[in-house]
Amino acid sequence: MKSFGYAATNATTPLGPFEFARREVGENDVCIDILYCGICHSDIHQVRNEWNNAIYPMVPGHEIVGKVLKVGSKVRKFKVGEVVGVGCMVDSCRQCPNCKDGLEQYCFKGFVGTYNDHEKDGKTITFGGYSTNIVVNEAFVLSVPSNLSLPGVAPLLCAGITTYSPLKHWHVKEGKKVGIMGLGGLGHMGVKIAHAMGAQVVVFTTSPSKVADAKRLGANEVVLSKDEAQMKQHIGSFDFLLNTISAPIDINAYLSLLKRDGVMCSVGIASKDAKLEMNRLIFGRKSLAGSLIGGIPETQEMLNFCGMHNITSDVEIIPIEKVNEAYERTIKSDVKYRFVIDIQSLKKG
Ligand code: NAP
Ligand code: ZN
Ligand code: ZN
Repeated sequence: MKSFGYAATNATTPLGPFEFARREVGENDVCIDILYCGICHSDIHQVRNEWNNAIYPMVPGHEIVGKVLKVGSKVRKFKVGEVVGVGCMVDSCRQCPNCKDGLEQYCFKGFVGTYNDHEKDGKTITFGGYSTNIVVNEAFVLSVPSNLSLPGVAPLLCAGITTYSPLKHWHVKEGKKVGIMGLGGLGHMGVKIAHAMGAQVVVFTTSPSKVADAKRLGANEVVLSKDEAQMKQHIGSFDFLLNTISAPIDINAYLSLLKRDGVMCSVGIASKDAKLEMNRLIFGRKSLAGSLIGGIPETQEMLNFCGMHNITSDVEIIPIEKVNEAYERTIKSDVKYRFVIDIQSLKKG
């Protein structure tokens, strides 16, 4: 079936209009009429080939919310007209131990990315959510709680789950002191979710203009990370730090802020890794960890959690024509706090 979107054709020129075909709806597939799609910093990393894995033409977008347009004959979970979401994955091997544990993001064979990837046939290129529709196997489609506003739901499909999963895994709850490093798309979701989990939340930001917002979003305290005196006040005090920063930073300075047995988890994917001073871990039995999005069952759990706590992303809604400008502003940390494309703007033409 026909789809219309915006694509990158190489690493340096702007995204532009692109017409392509989606597969016909198979018996286990759901065809979704896309309503909103978030702009994740990973879209920019991939469009600009910063991870050296770009496949062009590339239609980015893995924070997708839309309405079911059509379902295959064997689909049981979804009905036409229902509001659903799709995140970073559209398939996986479904047989390896990680897939069986509902951790498809760690599939032994590699999950199939929503875009910039190949379907399991090894040939068909996947195209993402900066487009009018998408066809996805029902096992990778999520239900959206009915009380949430839809533009703000889209970013939950990546920014939401990528922060929820490590916060949950490392038992963030009341009585824990948690630091969120970077107040961008992921970071602002991390603040809302950690606050809803009952933790004491401290935000680390390089942007003085975000201090008041950080508190409104749920932070108990805000540290300007370039101010050494402010950083020093927190030495040895954190149970958990979540690094959502999209650029290389001095992680050693942050490791000093952990308590004994504290954990710092990185989800931000910088193009170069900073050099780790091992002593910072040894003195204090500290751990440095990483985490990748979240599995399908946990993504549903996160959406239900957000429904229960009335959590959505703070968004700036844009028409597709503004996507290139939005990329530039995201790179400058000038977004409060996620750009979301109104896909209606693609359907006019
Ligand atoms: P974003 O909205 O651009 O936010 C990144 C934030 O990092 C900025 O708002 C800024 O916060 C801070 N920052 C940027 N440059 C900095 C620098 N040079 N020094 C210090 N801080 C800086 O990006 P995002 O969409 O949240 O994504 C964040 C990162 O996570 C990206 O690398 C993305 O690829 C990655 N990601 C990973 C996963 C995963 O599964 N692990 C999933 C999604 C995304 P302040 O203005 O507050 O300083
Ligand atoms: Zn993402
Ligand atoms: Zn697998």
